[in-house]
Amino acid sequence: MAFTHLPGGFPCFNHMPMPEKNACPFCTIDPAEILLENDHAVAFYDRFPVTPGHALVVPRRHVNSFFEITGEELAALWELLGRVREHLIAKRSPDAFNVGINDGVAAGQTVMHLHIHLIPRYSGDTEDPRGGVRWIMPVKAPYWKKG
Ligand code: 5GP
Ligand code: ZN
Repeated sequence: MAFTHLPGGFPCFNHMPMPEKNACPFCTIDPAEILLENDHAVAFYDRFPVTPGHALVVPRRHVNSFFEITGEELAALWELLGRVREHLIAKRSPDAFNVGINDGVAAGQTVMHLHIHLIPRYSGDTEDPRGGVRWIMPVKAPYWKKG
């Protein structure tokens, strides 16, 4: 089956809507990489962080989408997201966070195992952080510039 590769040779599953679990980088995460975990969710650092401390929180179960998870998984992801945040605050003293899910290929998802990005932000890490996740659409992001 054809698939492209991310930097570093990691496969990009754009053409594989539901890869085999043994081909999924998050199902096969090295236990040594696990930062924090609970019964239904695991957290680890992103291999290609956009800021220092960029972490991913994922369900243990291989599901593509946020909208496929159970209530129990949702609670576990939420609990773990909060603990990872506390961990990052203690370790890196960020000034803010971006929290995001790319849900579906058209939304930018490249690894088809649901993951919540927890991206610590540091004052001055970009010239003008206003708009945050709105920058998925650069033309529309700076709404404050509209007359
Ligand atoms: P997406 O584009 O699907 O929202 O995000 C995928 C994320 O997974 C990217 O931020 C990318 O850096 C990260 N990533 C891809 N492969 C691996 C991997 O093997 N290990 C880890 N820890 N992160 C990965
Ligand atoms: Zn998986």
